[in-house]
Amino acid sequence: ESVVNRIAAGEVIQRPVSCVKELVENSIDAHSTSILVVVKDGGLKLIQVSDDGHGIRHEDLAILCERHTTSKLSNFEDLQSIKSMGFRGEALASMTYVGHVTVTTITKGQLHGYRATYKDGMMEHEPKACAAVKGTQIMVENLFYNMIARRKTLQNAADDYPKIVDLLSRFAIHHINVSFSCRKHGAPRADVHSVATSSRLEAIRSVYGASVARNLMKIEASDNDPSSSIFKMDGFISNSNYVAKKITMVLFINDRLVDCGALKRAIEIVYAATLPKASKPFIYMSITLPPEDVDVNVHPTKREVSLLNQEVIIEKIQSVIELRLRNSNE
Ligand code: ADP
Ligand code: MG
Repeated sequence: ESVVNRIAAGEVIQRPVSCVKELVENSIDAHSTSILVVVKDGGLKLIQVSDDGHGIRHEDLAILCERHTTSKLSNFEDLQSIKSMGFRGEALASMTYVGHVTVTTITKGQLHGYRATYKDGMMEHEPKACAAVKGTQIMVENLFYNMIARRKTLQNAADDYPKIVDLLSRFAIHHINVSFSCRKHGAPRADVHSVATSSRLEAIRSVYGASVARNLMKIEASDNDPSSSIFKMDGFISNSNYVAKKITMVLFINDRLVDCGALKRAIEIVYAATLPKASKPFIYMSITLPPEDVDVNVHPTKREVSLLNQEVIIEKIQSVIELRLRNSNE
């Protein structure tokens, strides 16, 4: 049974960066205002995510890492939106089958926190009282220690750290009211360092640099046509002065970081047609849709999504971008 669990867990947690994504999303869900990520050896030795969120109650620690343990389904609407979120209560459990997990947490009003360690879906012994300030710290050590082949491919492949930095950069420009930091273990400075702000452009400047931020334009669209789906979009797109060799597309749908290949290609086409001399674009876009209109394609843990009425939405976005690019060019 443990082999089956391990294989299933390896599907959910495919690489160190998938582990970081799950942990950081949990920290965001816990209403954190500050999230710190520390990574050692591309995440294979250590992934540590510390937040200042609401913490985990002592009585919840025992079952925390059992499969399907979640505090995030409270009503029928939530159940309907499971689909758009991918899966529920699988991430932490999966980590315990493929790594060593230590959770340190304190809830509001408590004098001390608790620390618990987990293995194969189970808490190893009673939580120990410990000092803690606020929120939760989760450490995943020796990821894939029991999956020799996976460890080998990951060691040979380019290390996951750049992917982790890219991931945190994306989170940081969407969740601008949260400060993010990401560093290699022992490194003196962080590779992602964003301070909570109320300005999206300011967040983009601090993460992607002034040369990106100064060449961005705001875009917005909404659509209330009952025959299509109800959607709202806002974001920033680069102008003709922006220079880059490849496209950067940061896409959040219903506050979840996703990829949509069809939308990305559609936007590239608009740029090529409207600003033929411009470089590949930078796009940050946040879309709100009814959760039942977002379909997680391919595999629940993949970022790729497809949308109901995708063509209509893509055409709408294309025309908004085209108009914006033409206006800026005059
Ligand atoms: P899910 O996020 O789908 O609920 P997870 O396996 O990722 O499932 O997490 C299980 C549960 O652990 C969450 O529902 C939440 O109650 C709790 N949890 C995990 N990480 C944190 C955190 N950083 N702060 C507070 N609670 C957390
Ligand atoms: Mg989660």
